[in-house]
Amino acid sequence: MFSTDDTIVAIATPPGRGGIGVVRLSGSDAHRIAGEMTGRQHFEPRHATFCVLPADDSTQTGDEVVVTAFPAPHSYTGEDVVEISAHGSPVILDGLLARAMARGARLAEPGEFTLRSVLHGKRDLVQAEAVADLIDAVTPAQARAAFDQLQGTLTHEIGAIEQALFDLMARLEASLDFPEEGYHFAERPAVITELQQQTTRLDALLATARGGRLLRDGAVVTIVGTPNAGKSSLFNALLRANRAIVTPVAGTTRDLLTERVEIAGYAITLVDTAGLRDAADAIEHEGVTRAKGAIDVADLAIVVLDRSRPLSADDRDVLRDTASMPRVIVANKSDLPSAWPQEDDARALSPIEVSAATAHGLDVLESALLDALTSERDATRRQDDRDEAAPASIGVVHRGATTSDHRDPVRVTNLRHIDLLSRARTAIDRAHSGLAGANLPEDLVLVDLHDAAERLQEVTGRRTTEDLLARIFSRFCIGK
Ligand code: GDP
Repeated sequence: MFSTDDTIVAIATPPGRGGIGVVRLSGSDAHRIAGEMTGRQHFEPRHATFCVLPADDSTQTGDEVVVTAFPAPHSYTGEDVVEISAHGSPVILDGLLARAMARGARLAEPGEFTLRSVLHGKRDLVQAEAVADLIDAVTPAQARAAFDQLQGTLTHEIGAIEQALFDLMARLEASLDFPEEGYHFAERPAVITELQQQTTRLDALLATARGGRLLRDGAVVTIVGTPNAGKSSLFNALLRANRAIVTPVAGTTRDLLTERVEIAGYAITLVDTAGLRDAADAIEHEGVTRAKGAIDVADLAIVVLDRSRPLSADDRDVLRDTASMPRVIVANKSDLPSAWPQEDDARALSPIEVSAATAHGLDVLESALLDALTSERDATRRQDDRDEAAPASIGVVHRGATTSDHRDPVRVTNLRHIDLLSRARTAIDRAHSGLAGANLPEDLVLVDLHDAAERLQEVTGRRTTEDLLARIFSRFCIGK
């Protein structure tokens, strides 16, 4: 059982030096401990109080600090919280930690502040997970998606579906309880229609999942092709930097080069591989083996062909080896005359014409990459697309006064949520076919509806286990 009886403390800012570092306390003794540390009896709630901490005997460190107290329940955790901003030196911050612990605070576990906020009902599990995503975000679009979930867009939509199921269950139960009345609180056709409506809502959410996951987790895109096709040049062109060594000597990229790039808000890990061909020596052989390994783990392959020379047997092998995976085929060196005959089978693949040398066609390649990675347009891509792509059947949540006035669609990004939502959908489907096709009695249908509602409650954490919470919060940083 998680305990919230004690007072926890942690350094809330990242390790290392900085202008400011923050030590955070949460729990019923937070005020007492901060008071003893600073020699102050009272902190005005949510006001910054400047205090001087003289060096003490045990830690030998002193500092000028600013203390901000957030009395329960109006705090991040819902408990009494005190934040002490000091100069951002690990020595000072460790000293503050030691002073707090000497007065009864316990060092917080990873994510324990956010866990407490969930236990005290300040936010649900979806919002808590959004906090971690917000901190982990490496592109503005990722941060934006996490922020929307933090604001409750997904919670709100799931809550609405759950409420509809709950109403339906209540009516089905009432008709079971009063059968002699001859009155059905829930007529079959009406129930069937309502179930369909909830399925549509879940489908609309699940339709955002592929793009949402890509947004949250990013994707690995491996560049493959025969030596000298221009893989490294394309890698560099996409990076707009010179990490890979571009060389006219064939077979020199023997190891894998990896770099992260942001394409339209998505975090894409680009992998440049050794040229795929029959290796001339042992080192090149190793490079080819690694390249094949990189293809296996990639979400997508960019197959680079050199348009300025006829397709070789090695090129055909690469095309064959990548045929069963998501891929984008590129005809590189479009600045040179094409050596491909008009009827060539390479042309039949409709490759995207690019020139890594002049950057011609890179924009087309980038959108082809995104299209291949997200089969559906889920409005995460461009601001202009948002209204058009928002699923019409689901509530588009208007964001609060803290943000601008455009609308964002509700979006699922987290695999755990995707899994539970699809299981809820399957359960509703079962209920639907039980009523519509098999003509099952209401009590059996109710079992499926309860199942669906429970899955939805697991998403938001209204139903949860300690194991699950422990797993979710273990990936948080300490101090969050
Ligand atoms: P890799 O072995 O597939 O990684 O190929 P590189 O990127 O090292 O390129 C091989 C050679 O082709 C180099 O001399 C590049 O300068 C040249 N090259 C690459 N892309 C282009 C292009 O779009 N146009 C032209 N004209 N040359 C290119």
